[in-house]
Amino acid sequence: MIRRHKGQTLILSYHRILPATHSEYKSMQPGMVVSEETFRNHMKWLTEYLDVIRLADLKMQRPQSSQPACVITLDDGWVDNYTYAYPILKEFDLPATIFLVSNMIDTNHYFWPEKLGLLLNNKTTKALLETQIKAKYDSDLSDYDGLIGLLKSEDDKSIIQFLDSVEKEAESSDNIFEKERQILNRKELIEMARSGLVDYGSHTENHIRLDKVSIKQSIHEITESKKCLETLLNTTISAFCYPNGSYTSEVVDAVANVYELACTTDSGWVNEKSNRHMLSRIMLHDDISNTRSLFWGRLLGFF
Ligand SMILES: [Zn+2]
Repeated sequence: MIRRHKGQTLILSYHRILPATHSEYKSMQPGMVVSEETFRNHMKWLTEYLDVIRLADLKMQRPQSSQPACVITLDDGWVDNYTYAYPILKEFDLPATIFLVSNMIDTNHYFWPEKLGLLLNNKTTKALLETQIKAKYDSDLSDYDGLIGLLKSEDDKSIIQFLDSVEKEAESSDNIFEKERQILNRKELIEMARSGLVDYGSHTENHIRLDKVSIKQSIHEITESKKCLETLLNTTISAFCYPNGSYTSEVVDAVANVYELACTTDSGWVNEKSNRHMLSRIMLHDDISNTRSLFWGRLLGFF
């Protein structure tokens, strides 16, 4: 089956890598996480049939007879990429690219879906949130998935402002909750880069969906994140990844002006017909890839 993909490249997409026993493992949306054990298995299985290469070495056109290639990518820059994925990459000596959100580095900020989860986890903040949701949307929704759907109708900056205001209100009434850092810091990024195994790409400044804002704002997110990461990490950033996989043709043009290639969340293998700035990937999460047959079934496009 894999022979059908000779000369092609598969780009894998991961987000979080956590031990199955980790407190955050179960609270994450299933689509966001692969267990440490499954990730190790994936790395082992991959190398049996695929030639794992760096994203920077990706070629649309490879010799028809060559072994299929594979690129490993991780989106968002979660701190667990350093704690759990990086040791496994070192163990198997495999390269990977992490797509970073430049304004999140060296902060303890949360992405808004995780902040929503945090607010729902605490009785006082949950009550505050429900009151604000009622006032703003005239809605009685209070479950995680329902609220994600409701909030997603807004652009990301408005959602962040709204959830920040709920959090501030909670803090001013003395209900401050502890927040653990979720995103990689500069020290971890530098250490991984020095190993020669980990490269970085941009995932915008603020992880906003680029089809929801003006092209002017999109261009700002696309170009400023590159400048910021290049200064911070003293390297060239030539790859980009669209947050939420959202793009328009204008956004793709803007990305093509400053990056050599860009990844989407569209599903499939990369071949000579692929657009360098609209690269397909295969998304992986634990429940659909934790056995050998599920893993290969997913990679070969059976489901
Ligand atoms: Zn993302």
